[in-house]
Amino acid sequence: MRNKKTCVDCSKCTVACPVHIEVEKKNIVYDVECLGCYDCVDSCPVSGALDMKLLGFGKKIHYAVYAGLVVGLFVVFMNTARFTGYWHNNVSVQEYTELVQDLDNPRFKHQQGKFEIEE
Ligand code: SF4
Ligand code: SF4
Repeated sequence: MRNKKTCVDCSKCTVACPVHIEVEKKNIVYDVECLGCYDCVDSCPVSGALDMKLLGFGKKIHYAVYAGLVVGLFVVFMNTARFTGYWHNNVSVQEYTELVQDLDNPRFKHQQGKFEIEE
């Protein structure tokens, strides 16, 4: 959440954003692209101009609390899904082991946005 009164329009938050959200132009970042990485808040030179706040409460969240919430929620969701049978796939442990050993194979190379169209 950006405080328009204290923001000095330096653009550092926008420059820091890894997914190119124009943070400096928003009052609140509601964007599905936002990773919640905290880089924009970290880069802001003005105390209180840009903070992470809990939706609906308006309270500023310390980054350590935020990190704890993210990890805690992930663990809760993952274990709930595991114990209810939703966290599984058909890849065996043996297949995982073989694939991990073959990670340098070109077929696993990230395309970085470039795709060839097969004809
Ligand atoms: S939290 Fe990260 S991804 Fe989200 S707006 Fe800030 S810098 Fe961008
Ligand atoms: S980094 Fe802080 S002061 Fe600079 S534009 Fe962003 S919110 Fe405003």
